[in-house]
Amino acid sequence: MADVVFNHATVRERADMLEFLELCAQRDLSAVSIWGNEIEKVGEARALEALSAHGLRVSGYNRIGPFTPEGLGRARAELERAARFGADHVFLFTGGLASGEYDLPVARNRAETVIADLLPVVLDLGLKLAIEPLHPMLVGDRTVIASLNHANDICDRLGEGVGVVIDAHHLWWDEQLEAEIARAGRAGRILGFHVNDWLIPTRHLLTDRGMMGDGIIDLAGIEAMVRRAGFAGPVEVEIFSQDWWRRDPAEVMDIALERCAAIFGKDRAA
Ligand code: ZN
Repeated sequence: MADVVFNHATVRERADMLEFLELCAQRDLSAVSIWGNEIEKVGEARALEALSAHGLRVSGYNRIGPFTPEGLGRARAELERAARFGADHVFLFTGGLASGEYDLPVARNRAETVIADLLPVVLDLGLKLAIEPLHPMLVGDRTVIASLNHANDICDRLGEGVGVVIDAHHLWWDEQLEAEIARAGRAGRILGFHVNDWLIPTRHLLTDRGMMGDGIIDLAGIEAMVRRAGFAGPVEVEIFSQDWWRRDPAEVMDIALERCAAIFGKDRAA
């Protein structure tokens, strides 16, 4: 099961970063995805020490954004911290339209300019920026990048230092999904594959994601697309859910690992 990475957000309500790292190490996992605000809660020195004591690598680092003056004011410090943690990639969170703004193309251009402006620092630090398109229902307030096609277009224009993360919950509906995953694969820009599920009904857009297997997404089918596109990295479990946050973190992780084994197979190396 070395091919599964947990995003700390999956258990963050009941496990701080130190507990989370220990839970991952107990399950022989080799990498984690982490959050800057969770590092601050336990202190950077302790977080780094625990990471190294457990021999864990950092896959994804959350995050740069939102793309407001305040959010961008922290961007450089976040990137430097991501580099200190040895992160493979850093997530971008563009945020939605500005207050009183109606012009989505302008907002999209502005976001792309921000990403372009970050790239020299990113390359200098040896990092990669990850564009993770979010579900279109989040365009108003969370993101201006809601399709893999749009993310691929931005990457085509910006070149080195930026790639995409494919999150099943956000992208499962897209009739161009296989073609766009293949396009990202040809460009060698798939940085991550996030798994979870889409529940019927979904009661909340941000905090009612499903555990893999509880919803309607053909996760094995999407994984096959990602593998055909040449992505050999881990599946990352990322579930934002009031229901799962209430449960014991160790139990949540064990259930997720069982589901991953059932859906994605047991013996692939990360
Ligand atoms: Zn995700």
